[in-house]
Amino acid sequence: MARKKDECSFCGSNRSEVKLLVSGIDAHICDRCIEQANLIIAEELPSKRSKELKSDFKVLKPSEIKNFLDQYVIGQDEAKRILAVAVYNHYKRIDQVQLKDDVEIEKSNIILVGETGTGKTLLARTIARMLHVPFAIADATVLTEAGYVGEDVESILTRLLQAADYDVKAAERGIVFIDEIDKIARKSDNPSITRDVSGEGVQQALLKLLEGTIVNVPPQGGRKHPEQKMIQVNTKNVLFIAGGAFDGIERIIAARHHTNVVGYGREKMHFVDKDNLLQYVAPSDLKKFGLIPEIVGRLPILTFLQPLTTETLKRIISEPKNALVKQFIKLFELDGIKLVFEEDVYDYIVEKSLEFKLGARGLRSIFEAILTDDMFELPSKSGVKELVISLDYAESKFNKSSISKLKVA
Ligand code: ADP
Repeated sequence: MARKKDECSFCGSNRSEVKLLVSGIDAHICDRCIEQANLIIAEELPSKRSKELKSDFKVLKPSEIKNFLDQYVIGQDEAKRILAVAVYNHYKRIDQVQLKDDVEIEKSNIILVGETGTGKTLLARTIARMLHVPFAIADATVLTEAGYVGEDVESILTRLLQAADYDVKAAERGIVFIDEIDKIARKSDNPSITRDVSGEGVQQALLKLLEGTIVNVPPQGGRKHPEQKMIQVNTKNVLFIAGGAFDGIERIIAARHHTNVVGYGREKMHFVDKDNLLQYVAPSDLKKFGLIPEIVGRLPILTFLQPLTTETLKRIISEPKNALVKQFIKLFELDGIKLVFEEDVYDYIVEKSLEFKLGARGLRSIFEAILTDDMFELPSKSGVKELVISLDYAESKFNKSSISKLKVA
């Protein structure tokens, strides 16, 4: 039966009693009922979505995880294997049905040690992409302990919530990458000598989060204030991956070579590959560097990333699924132009990236430097079907660019 024309079909209110009455074909709805309906949508949809997410959430086997990572990240085999096992165990742990008196599997957060630009963030991001779980990056350097100027550690979870579209259940299975964890190290590993309050305070604040706790999170970020409605997030199943360059940690590792470190085997450490000491990094080195023992304890999976060699950089240019070369070829293709690089151009780009100490991040800037003129001009030129980048051409474009004027220290 059709409702009366000036009455809400849901609550029966008359047009004169409401601010707005929206009319459909055979029914009407008032502003109050629209608001109610919105609230229902906000509550129901995310939980429905996380149920759906959970049902199609399939944890891949470690070797499958590694295969997936191989498509996006070049090299770093050791880190990939360790990450694959850690991620597999983490999600297996979450999905196990906890029986009474059952063995409780502890959470295993991860710490990646490696020079900047070697793929730490990329690894963490790729894992999140593979699992379709929310992913947030937090920069440890902007974090401060509560009450100081800067961001509270809770802001990390605000970002995770935002990445999850405020679906708390999804956020609680997400991954957080904490970058530059080494920058919050205290200056000495002997707390009685130097109390570096800021670094240590942040580490203390992070502890609970890493371990698993219920945190009141300000949904829009910023400082907590009494009127703000908080969202409770349980971090028990959030996987934290911390990363840092730990500049100078090689010296600490090397020192183990000369001394018998108590608790790390009686015999003298023997490092076979002295040029790459990072591969021998141990939890005790992180403590010596200035991470408090409790933090080291809560990041029990420790692995390292290799510095990028000429060979790796060359592979990074063309091999990953979304490799730079593939991206630029696609961009030109969209304008109907076939972009071709002569083989020695890649060597040149890698050489320049190393020369200007730009690492993998710099590869894109060099490509841009070489291609910007063409990307500017060709779309408005007709008849161009192909652009071949020879070594001479690449050199001439690069030498005119602003990066080539950079001074290398
Ligand atoms: P980090 O977190 O170690 O400082 P990133 O993961 O942010 O470094 O790497 C910076 C960029 O360099 C990445 O976005 C990616 O394009 C590239 N890159 C670095 N390492 C690799 C790698 N091993 N394989 C593929 N690309 C890489």
